[in-house]
Amino acid sequence: MTDQIRCRDAVHQLWGYLDGALTTGNQEALESHLSWCLRCCGELEFARELRGLLQRRASPPLPDDVADRLERFVDHLDDPSGPPNPTVDHRS
Ligand SMILES: [Zn+2]
Repeated sequence: MTDQIRCRDAVHQLWGYLDGALTTGNQEALESHLSWCLRCCGELEFARELRGLLQRRASPPLPDDVADRLERFVDHLDDPSGPPNPTVDHRS
């Protein structure tokens, strides 16, 4: 049985996973996490999209501000109370 990793750890490893840069153990732990964590599966799709976009634009690796934003996003995901509800403001 592989070690259980938390959502935050899984998301932090996504980029390495997409790069094929993880060790076999880390990759298996991440895949096992993704197999039961739908929230992270959504993250994986998100990361794939973002990464594909960056590649098409031939940009340098993830800019600091984007990495920063991802970190904060992950912090919300890892919050026991869950991500904040999207605020739909009908008053415009
Ligand atoms: Zn997860």
